Amino acid sequence: MALIVQKFGGTSVANTERIKNVASRVAKYRAKGDQIVVVVSAMSGVTDNLINLAKDIMPLPNEREMDMLLATGEQTTIALTAIALHALNLKAVSLTGAQAGILTDGVHTKAKIQNITPKMIHELLDDGHVVIVAGFQGQTPDGQITTLGRGGSDLTAIALAAALKADLCQIYTDVDGVYTADPRIVPEARKLDVISYDEMLELASLGAKVMQSRSVEFAKKFGVVFEVRSSLNDNPGTIVKEETKSMEDVVIRGVSLDKNQAKVTLLGVPDRPGMAARIFKALADAAINVDMIVQNVSHGAKDPATDLSFTVDKADLLKARKVIDGLKAEVGYADVISNEKMGKLSIVGVGMRSHSGVAARMFETLAKEGVNISMISTSEIKISVVIDLAKGPDAMKAVHAAFLKS
Ligand code: ASP
Ligand code: MG
Repeated sequence: MALIVQKFGGTSVANTERIKNVASRVAKYRAKGDQIVVVVSAMSGVTDNLINLAKDIMPLPNEREMDMLLATGEQTTIALTAIALHALNLKAVSLTGAQAGILTDGVHTKAKIQNITPKMIHELLDDGHVVIVAGFQGQTPDGQITTLGRGGSDLTAIALAAALKADLCQIYTDVDGVYTADPRIVPEARKLDVISYDEMLELASLGAKVMQSRSVEFAKKFGVVFEVRSSLNDNPGTIVKEETKSMEDVVIRGVSLDKNQAKVTLLGVPDRPGMAARIFKALADAAINVDMIVQNVSHGAKDPATDLSFTVDKADLLKARKVIDGLKAEVGYADVISNEKMGKLSIVGVGMRSHSGVAARMFETLAKEGVNISMISTSEIKISVVIDLAKGPDAMKAVHAAFLKS
């Protein structure tokens, strides 16, 4: 008898038909004698709708009340899922995050799980119930309802799998698994059988939004092996686990394109100690996340100056421009230009560690496509280039063909 955690995302519980479908999948596993803990998200669109309702009333609603509000989304789904299992004559009980023993800190709307005491879950499982837990929510030690940040049901599932020492953790979604690239852009993209935590994290933060990044970090920390698979068919999904030696045989695991990049360039920044510190401190103080930074070599012998470029999320561009404009007198740069039609194309793979010439091959491929590279950054398992957004899809297809042709 195995203990299995099965998480169903918003699209998998989008309506009562889909919830019945979830129930019959759970019933199939239950019929084999396995113990099942189900974690569900709010029905798709519900969380967004609740947020819009609150923002209709005021732009920055109180965060404790937002948690109170958003937690209702998952609470609806757990009850409906339990009812759907009852309709199949199965014993099932729904639990809120608090009832499931999920304790968090008090940072409303992005609380961190502090510990899990799954006493009630164990008792109910031993009594033959399927236990359905509300994802995305927990409770502080003094009984306040909290939520775990957008996409937080993934974290609930992974954390429960760790706390329950589950034999299997399945993340059900509306795609068959993790792909070598977004199949909507690259039709030749393939589903991966396996991917390492680090590759998954790079792909997730690069815009391949399959799972909440924090949940993958958590899984890595606690060694929770999980499978990402579809709730709409029976195809095997993608296993996400610690890196193994054989994973390095594949040079590149996947390609991703982040379409939300904006680039800011400060021209003629005086080349003196403290300038970069001043600029990036001001951006940090405004809570603007800076991604890539490139500074050129100095020009001008008498008053040496340099050009400094950085990228931010497109949504933060106006804010960033304001901060930079405010520094004009103090820093004394000559001019500032920005471009919000940029994309970041990245290739990811642990195989880069043991293969050479990967960057050269990527750049050659882009050159052949006539794509100009505006910035480059690399890490141990990733190479990213900032390019013209309009060329993004073609560049992605070409790079995918160069590295991932089957
Ligand atoms: N319902 C929450 C959200 O939409 C949590 C989740 O779906 O994982 O972000
Ligand atoms: Mg999700």
